Amino acid sequence: MTGITLALSKGRIFEETMPLLEAAGIRPLEDPESSRKLIIATERPDVRVVIVRATDVPTYVQHGAADLGVAGRDVLLEHGGDGLVQPLDLRIARCRMMVACAEGFDYASAVRSGARLRVATKYVSIAREHFAAKGVHVDLIKLYGSMELAPLVGLADVIVDLVSTGGTLKANKLVAMEEVMPISSRLVVNRAALKLRRTEIDPIIQCFSGALTPA
Ligand code: ATP
Ligand code: MG
Repeated sequence: MTGITLALSKGRIFEETMPLLEAAGIRPLEDPESSRKLIIATERPDVRVVIVRATDVPTYVQHGAADLGVAGRDVLLEHGGDGLVQPLDLRIARCRMMVACAEGFDYASAVRSGARLRVATKYVSIAREHFAAKGVHVDLIKLYGSMELAPLVGLADVIVDLVSTGGTLKANKLVAMEEVMPISSRLVVNRAALKLRRTEIDPIIQCFSGALTPA
């Protein structure tokens, strides 16, 4: 028996997953915000949590270094679903993927004109698919953060980014033009582990499922 390993990222995903962990009797014994440990024991001796970067969660689970993980729909779409099963939408860390531009930029005309739209984003696959489905030709510019800056300094016409309150857009005089998709975090499970260790993993999925906030 090797036990179950659950991959989580610090911040909102960890915080919002906590009630689900409690429901499954796997409350972590340390807080990753104050502890520097990357492997955290839980109330159950056979279950541990590993703390990884949000974008790395699918990688750990795909390779079986973690059996389960929690990752945003954004991260999962960018990573691809190889070797992963997504049994549950946990309805946490909710926000929206949006197209936004500077105040005064005529997005509708830019799209209609047929000229190439310059799109800056961390979410290159999601953005590519979104504009391809609309028949809009784009030049994609990959960024790793501070997307809001790009339209302000002429790097791009629009950005594709996650928006929750809209406060960051507003502070930078940007306007959301279009919703790409709603985003929430999903439970992801290693496909082979789900088959081979069903008796250990299924009850955890059931506990999470029973503890979700109603849709
Ligand atoms: P970092 O901020 O350290 O670069 P990150 O952006 O990957 O890392 P978080 O900001 O913690 O990590 O986001 C983790 C996940 O939470 C994202 O993948 C997304 O699904 C969701 N998320 C991101 N921003 C928001 C938001 N403003 N409101 C709600 N959920 C969000
Ligand atoms: Mg972030």
